[in-house]
Amino acid sequence: MTHVTLNRRQVLLTLGASLGTALLPKVSFAGELATLRIGKIEVSTFSDGTFDIPPAWFPNAQPEALAAAGETITIGVNQWLVRSGARLILIDTGAGPLFPGFGQLEALLAANSVDKADITDVIITHMHGDHIGGLARENSGGFVNAKIHVNKAEWGFWTDPDLVSKMPAEMTETIQGVQSIVAPLADRVVTHAGETDLGDGLTLVPMVGHTPGHSGVRIADEDKSLLVIGDALLSEALQFANPETTYLLDLDPQQAVETRIALLQDLAASGGLFAATHIAYPGMGQVERKGDSFVFKPIA
Ligand SMILES: [Zn+2]
Repeated sequence: MTHVTLNRRQVLLTLGASLGTALLPKVSFAGELATLRIGKIEVSTFSDGTFDIPPAWFPNAQPEALAAAGETITIGVNQWLVRSGARLILIDTGAGPLFPGFGQLEALLAANSVDKADITDVIITHMHGDHIGGLARENSGGFVNAKIHVNKAEWGFWTDPDLVSKMPAEMTETIQGVQSIVAPLADRVVTHAGETDLGDGLTLVPMVGHTPGHSGVRIADEDKSLLVIGDALLSEALQFANPETTYLLDLDPQQAVETRIALLQDLAASGGLFAATHIAYPGMGQVERKGDSFVFKPIA
């Protein structure tokens, strides 16, 4: 995988109990592709690239945690392709052409015989560039037949024509970038308020804070489930041990902390399987509670 080191402006511009394992789905690798079954639903995880970001982007992280994390913190950029019923659903689209070294999703889909025109739905966890970038190419990235699902508050926030004047000047280019990518998609976007059943075992679940309508996706069938949490947790190196650690691009850091802690508590109590965008590929596992902290237990 390609590592790309970005400065802060570049990313602002773009980003805009003990656990039982008996019920856990098994992850198989076909080539480099991690695939698992949630009941009858098949979920494959793709990587669009990785970011190396400075520790200073976690502004309230404890000094010893930052020192242990090293000079840069590498984060993944994962997407999920879900086959359920008659539908082929992509969750997030990666950074696409927005950064050098990214856009790997496109070749990976082709290498796995996935025609982007066959994708019926694209679910967007939130509208930062590393999640909507794959829609930035000509013809909306080739997802020409897909309905695009996004939380209503998320869509409303980023497409507000007055947003530039309401936000700090350093966000102007980010906002204009997001608006230029999504403007051609408006007639294919379906917005959803609150928790929404999208059918075929998928539910859009608000997990706000990182952005105003940031949402995860619960994938469930039979007695299995996988909770995709998007950017509700960014850094496996810092935010399991101390979930109060905030991230530079959280639009409401305090709300993001509350959301993360509630999620980690639920996941630790249930032993449920989850997947996150920025945990190192394939970015899936369980959470174990350890006092006020949490420990990540990767499953692959
Ligand atoms: Zn992200």
